[in-house]
Amino acid sequence: MVNLLDFDLEGLVTHCAAMGEKRFRAVQLHRWIHQKGESCFERMSDLARPLRQKLAASAAVKALEPIAEQLSADGTVKWLFDVGAGNAVETVFIPEADRGTLCISSQAGCAIGCRFCSTGHQGFSRNLTTGEIVAQLWHAEHRLRQRLGLPAGARAIDNVVMMGMGEPLQNYSALVPALRTMLDDHGYGLSRRRVTVSTSGVVPMIDRLSEDCPVALAVSLHAPDDTLRDELVPLNRKYPLRELLGACRRYLRRAPRDFITFEYCMLDGVNDSPEQARGLVSLIRGETSASSEPVACKVNLIPFNPFPASGLKRSPASRVQVFAQVVSEAGIVTTVRKTRGDDIDAACGQLAGEVQDRTDVQTRLSRVPVRVVAGAGVSS
Ligand code: SAH
Ligand code: SF4
Repeated sequence: MVNLLDFDLEGLVTHCAAMGEKRFRAVQLHRWIHQKGESCFERMSDLARPLRQKLAASAAVKALEPIAEQLSADGTVKWLFDVGAGNAVETVFIPEADRGTLCISSQAGCAIGCRFCSTGHQGFSRNLTTGEIVAQLWHAEHRLRQRLGLPAGARAIDNVVMMGMGEPLQNYSALVPALRTMLDDHGYGLSRRRVTVSTSGVVPMIDRLSEDCPVALAVSLHAPDDTLRDELVPLNRKYPLRELLGACRRYLRRAPRDFITFEYCMLDGVNDSPEQARGLVSLIRGETSASSEPVACKVNLIPFNPFPASGLKRSPASRVQVFAQVVSEAGIVTTVRKTRGDDIDAACGQLAGEVQDRTDVQTRLSRVPVRVVAGAGVSS
C-alpha cells in the first residue's frame, strides 16, 4: 500500500501517470489530501469513480496515530505520535498573536548527541519518512481548524519550524519532498520565509538545501569558539566553525531571507559570560581565525530548558540580559526566546518522545565532558 503523504506534487504526478491519469488529477488529489484534510477516497467527489476505486485498492493517506495530545495553559499543544516499534515523536503547536507555528520532528531520536538536548540524550533510532514528517502538519492543521472552528479556507498554521526531535539535515532525502509539500500552492501554500530548517551544522547538506529547496535557515551555534562547541555539539569536530560559517555565507546568496538565525542556548556558567558574548560578536563579524568575513544574521538566545539527565542549569535572566545587550550593542539583532508550553514539557529541547535507543549513549556522552567556566554565573 503506497502512502500518498510520502509524495510531493511531482511525485504524485508520476504516481498518477503510472495509473494512466493526467497531471490535473494529481493536483486534485493533492488538494483533497492537504488542503481539505481528506483521507477517504470515496469522499473525493470530483475524482472519477474508477480512479477512486483504483486508489482505494493501491494507496492510502496514512496519517500518524496520536498517542497523546496535551494542552498547555498558554495555548501550546503537544502531540505524541506513534511511529512504530516502540518509537514516538513529538510535535508542538505554538499560537502567537499574529501567527501559528508548528514545530515538527524529523527523526526518532538524534545521532548528534548535544549535551543540553533531551532528544540527543535518547540516542538515535531512525529517520522519519516524508509521510511521517508531513503527517505531523496534516494532523495538526486539520485538527486545529476543527477545534478552533476556522472558516473554510482559513488556516491554523502559517509558520513551520523543523525544530522538534532530530537533525533534519541528516534525513535530507525525506526532508526535501516534505518541505515541497509545505510550500506547494496545492499543498499548504506556506511562504519560504516561514518554513525554517534548523540545523546543528551539517555543512554539505546546507549547500544542497540552498540548491534544492531554499527556505529560512537557523543554525544552532551555542558557542563562540571551536573548543567549547566541540564539547556541546559533537558534530563540530567534523564541521568546525570556519566551515560552518562559510556554508552560512554561501546559503545567504540564495536564501529567501537575507539573514541566518543563530540559535544560542544559554547554559549557566558554560557559554553565557560577557566575554563569550564578545567572542560571538567577533565570530559573526569575521574577526577571528574561525571566520574572516561577517555573516548577516540575527541571534536568538534560548534560555536552557533543563531536564534531569543533563546536569546543566539555565542561565539566570540577568545574565541572559547582559549577554543580549553585548551582542545587540554590536549592531546584531538579538532576541531572547520566550519559553512556551513548559508546563507540558513542550519547550525547546524537552521533546523526548519515546525512542528505542540503538546507540550506547552513555558511552558516547561520557567522551564529551562539559567545561564549566570557572567562577562564571550564579544559579537561578
Ligand atoms: N537538530 C536541530 C533541530 C532540532 S533542535 C538543531 O539542533 O538545530 C531545535 C533547537 O532547540 C536547537 O537550536 C537546539 O539547540 C535547541 N535546544 C535543544 N535542547 C535544548 C534545551 N534543553 N533547551 C533549550 N534549547 C534547546
Ligand atoms: Fe540533535 Fe538538535 Fe538535539 Fe543536537 S540539539 S541532539 S542536533 S535535536
